[in-house]
Amino acid sequence: MRAPDPDEDVYAERLMRRGAPKGDFPERGTEARVAYQLVHDELMLDGISRMNLATFCTTWVEPEVRMLMDESIDKNMIDKDEYPQTAELERRCVRMLADLWHVPEPSDPVGISTTGSSEAAMLAGLAAKFSWRARREAEGRPTDRPNLVCGPVQVCWEKFALYFDVELRRIPLSGDTYVMTPDDVDRYCDENTIMVVCNFAQTFTGLFEDVSGVAAALDRFEERTGHDIPLHVDGASGAFTAPFVSPDLVWDFRLPRVRSINASGHKTGLAPLGSGWAMWRRKADLPEELVFQVDYLGGNQATFNLNFSRPGGQVVTQYYDFVRLGREGYRMIHSATHETARHLAEGVRAMGPFDLVHDGHPDRGIGAVSWRLVGDEPFTPYDLADRLRTRGWLVPAYPLPADRDSEAVQRVLVRHGFSRDMSDLLLEDIESAIEHLRTHPPSVPLGRDEAGGFNHGARSVIDRADVPSPRPARESRR
Ligand SMILES: *Cc1c(COP(=O)(O)O)cnc(C)c1O
Repeated sequence: MRAPDPDEDVYAERLMRRGAPKGDFPERGTEARVAYQLVHDELMLDGISRMNLATFCTTWVEPEVRMLMDESIDKNMIDKDEYPQTAELERRCVRMLADLWHVPEPSDPVGISTTGSSEAAMLAGLAAKFSWRARREAEGRPTDRPNLVCGPVQVCWEKFALYFDVELRRIPLSGDTYVMTPDDVDRYCDENTIMVVCNFAQTFTGLFEDVSGVAAALDRFEERTGHDIPLHVDGASGAFTAPFVSPDLVWDFRLPRVRSINASGHKTGLAPLGSGWAMWRRKADLPEELVFQVDYLGGNQATFNLNFSRPGGQVVTQYYDFVRLGREGYRMIHSATHETARHLAEGVRAMGPFDLVHDGHPDRGIGAVSWRLVGDEPFTPYDLADRLRTRGWLVPAYPLPADRDSEAVQRVLVRHGFSRDMSDLLLEDIESAIEHLRTHPPSVPLGRDEAGGFNHGARSVIDRADVPSPRPARESRR
């Protein structure tokens, strides 16, 4: 019998027989088809992203998006002179978003593309910090103690505060609320507040914060104290749903208090990973000193980004999405995800032991469902998350922010590509997981309190049960 010819069979090749290089920089290379197969096979263990119900990010795109991504692989966003049309598509997207978010003068908007909401948040935070410092210096007042006021925010704001030396004043959750309430805002603001950040929507529940309520609270604060504090909307996911499915909800530049907005094109904006946007109300809200004029790539160009080189395909495909879908298409897609979310919420509620935190209603939040386990059950939400993993579903459980961290929530993001049928399959799997956990209790819930939440004794159960599943740490709150 002839041995398999390595030229014919990829699995007979040296690397496939010996294993992949994992540490030392490999001395020799291998054929493209072998390297491809090796990497491709290893990535099977990542699972199926569309069953990852934890992520907000795009996991389904049209074939045309793949084609454009492929065609744009050599486009560098920074070379605006070399790739003038990619730069032009960015400007068109910015103008369209200015229109969508009601910038007062949309003909010449101040907006940029970024790699995601995190970069956009850093840039918006920096703009606010620089503006605040200029105002303070002009008044001859100290500029050494800037702060930022917010509710329970995504980790990017903690990063901003840490990296750029700004105190993060996080308003604790009061009573049984999940979001920052306008009434609390002015107790945390003072003359050193560079801006207030509103979540639209909140990462761990999918709920919208009351942007117009917070704007009104800041108006009253200004009347009382004379301090004009800018409001920033972290619209990572909501900025691409509400304009289409809840057009009457006022959260954007229609509110004069809103000075900047960030959004993730790669979440509900439906673009592939690596797309984000930042927009300012007017030129005066983005200090000129932050904008660099770069002239060594031919031509002179303004740049306000953390990276220099950046892939252009994300902007190209975002433009494709806007052209392909229009308002009508986005409305159709997001109405469908909200419908599915509401169906899922109903199903979860009907199972009994859960209290809905977000029911998927488009006026209350994005197309997501979140719930707490309230029944007297012999398992934790972490056990349920683990059990669902055996069917391939990723439905993370994690504790509420610090002031309510003895309670856990579970959240499902209903995204483009998650159908009614898939939601029915998930509901069936949740039901059988509960059934299984009731008959085979996985862990002894130590110190369950009367309300059915978890007190500190239960933290060890949470920690233990959590080991192989999404960790209830900051990084799991994507
Ligand atoms: C996802 C998210 C972010 C971070 O956005 P990236 O695009 O992942 O960098 C920030 N804020 C909120 C509310 C989010 O949902």
